[in-house]
Amino acid sequence: MKTIAKEQLGQGLARLRQPILPLVRIVQFLYLTGPFERVAPILAELNEPVEMEAVAYPEPQALLAPYLPALARFEQLKHPELAGFCVLDENGTELDSHTAIELMVCQEILTQELEAINSLLCGPCGCALCCVGPEADMAQEFFEIPLQAAELASFPVPRIDSPESRGSDPYQEPPLLVGGMPFCQGPTALYHWHSHWSLILPRASACPNLDPASGGCNIYPNRPEVCRRPQIFPYALERTPEKDRPGLPAFMARRKLLAIWDCPYVRTLQEEIGLYAELSGLEPIFRENKG
Ligand code: SF4
Ligand code: SF4
Repeated sequence: MKTIAKEQLGQGLARLRQPILPLVRIVQFLYLTGPFERVAPILAELNEPVEMEAVAYPEPQALLAPYLPALARFEQLKHPELAGFCVLDENGTELDSHTAIELMVCQEILTQELEAINSLLCGPCGCALCCVGPEADMAQEFFEIPLQAAELASFPVPRIDSPESRGSDPYQEPPLLVGGMPFCQGPTALYHWHSHWSLILPRASACPNLDPASGGCNIYPNRPEVCRRPQIFPYALERTPEKDRPGLPAFMARRKLLAIWDCPYVRTLQEEIGLYAELSGLEPIFRENKG
């Protein structure tokens, strides 16, 4: 397991210590209590430094500007009939539209913010754990990278797309056989499963886009969605298609922030991740994925 010192995580750590959600709450409050129809004019008014107990924002307007499209969802607070989704609590009871919209804004804004923070934190670690198969001493026989169909072309490896693969999933017992062997004993390949596509990385393998010399990703600007999300991610809402209502996609309220303990920067920044979660109104959950 690689380790990394806080001092090496400069820019990513600075962003983690200045979470955007407290500023987002100010925008929400001003929108609800003011005569505004749109959110954009509120940002124009936030042109003075904002100081809170735990964190200072010298330029709130500039910090909020990249989130304006997601902030515009607050306009649904005055027009809840436009929300177009529903949020359920863990008992299956539908939450009021105000709470539902607030949680959706939280999920969307933290997804955007944490994509940038994770990228800044990963770079200095010199680690490629997310891009390789299990090491010899790990319990797992393979790691899976779920992909969308439009992302497959970036992976120059064989494709397994058969009636048998489409009737199976990677964790089914007995496992899918390819050429008479369990699929995970074969080479790195793309598999079309019952519900999705994924890249399967067997033991001691690596993603074909990992540059062995630099340890970097050869398709970094176009890397798939799932590669943009390690290893701290928001879980304010979970998509639950099985609970969809007619014309309304359903989500479950979770109000958590997940951080994966296998990652060196997560171990180094446990305290800061906890504070980031608290300031964002979420419960931090640390868990191990690999090993
Ligand atoms: S596409 Fe890039 S970031 Fe994603 S697993 Fe492969 S090398 Fe890693
Ligand atoms: S485990 Fe963490 S540091 Fe290692 S590649 Fe994944 S995100 Fe980067």
